[in-house]
Amino acid sequence: MSDCIFCRIVSGKAPARIVYQDEDVTAFHDLNPRAPTHILIVPNRHIAGVDRVEEADAALLGKLFVVARHLAEQEGVGNGYRLVINNGSLAGQSVFHLHVHLLGGRPLSWPPG
Ligand code: 5GP
Ligand code: ZN
Repeated sequence: MSDCIFCRIVSGKAPARIVYQDEDVTAFHDLNPRAPTHILIVPNRHIAGVDRVEEADAALLGKLFVVARHLAEQEGVGNGYRLVINNGSLAGQSVFHLHVHLLGGRPLSWPPG
């Protein structure tokens, strides 16, 4: 989607600090980090949110977790990190291209606000 900022980052049309990319998944630093480590992990294919995922997406979605695990270790936060997916504006989703937030590097309180 040409008007989607994350599609533009995936395709290299918008700048981002990319830390990982393969044929399925791209990961980059959040523009407005909420923790010392704050990386967004996105499917390269546009999926608007969790409410749009389908059975056929299962392997792709699983891969987001595998990439998250490797990035957490690479970033040195493997001993404690949080994966967050906001779905819908009421839950704080502001970019409607599915993304997993990888947050770490500081104590994370529970429950989130
Ligand atoms: P959401 O609120 O949808 O769960 O998360 C969207 C995240 O994307 C926010 O944390 C926001 O800071 C980040 N973000 C929004 N626009 C950009 C951008 O252009 N580049 C990067 N790297 N992050 C962005
Ligand atoms: Zn998109």
